[in-house]
Amino acid sequence: RIPVLAIIGRPNVGKSTLVNRIIGRREAVVEDIPGVTRDRVPYDAEWNGKAFTVVDTGGWDPDARGLAERIAAQAEVAVQAADAVLFVVDATVGITDADEAVVRILRAAGKPVVLAANKVDDQRGELEAASLWNLGLGEPYPVSALHGRGSGDLLDAVLDAL
Ligand code: GDP
Ligand code: MG
Repeated sequence: RIPVLAIIGRPNVGKSTLVNRIIGRREAVVEDIPGVTRDRVPYDAEWNGKAFTVVDTGGWDPDARGLAERIAAQAEVAVQAADAVLFVVDATVGITDADEAVVRILRAAGKPVVLAANKVDDQRGELEAASLWNLGLGEPYPVSALHGRGSGDLLDAVLDAL
């Protein structure tokens, strides 16, 4: 059976960009206007000769009331169907209430989690990424989904988790 990796996180943190980076194709829809990704979309991926399915998530209106709850509910569904989770946080924004709601879901699910600190486009961002240790999910992997910085180390950690 091919293992499943769910990509979870708030709108606009760069989940779809990271999915495209992982699959090496521009298939996941990236939008400057957040909230356009359909609920859960699977893509075939491979790293170091190991095949896996990566599931992009989204579909929220970022201005909706109760956004954090909606994200957490979506995360819950996606996590149940996954072997491991890649939790994406925007390191330039830092930890939000919605991120903390997702962390509670992830803890309850007990699945392996890899934490991606996205939008670390250069060395300066590394410090912001380190603050994500405060989520209590272990090491944050600084990455730039846009430019590819750090994606190799992140994918190595993902394979270990799957
Ligand atoms: P999603 O809503 O989480 O799927 O986020 P998207 O992948 O659609 O990206 C939202 C916005 O963030 C887009 O404008 C992306 O170009 C931008 N973005 C994504 N990853 C990065 C990154 O690593 N660095 C920077 N600077 N911008 C990024
Ligand atoms: Mg998206």
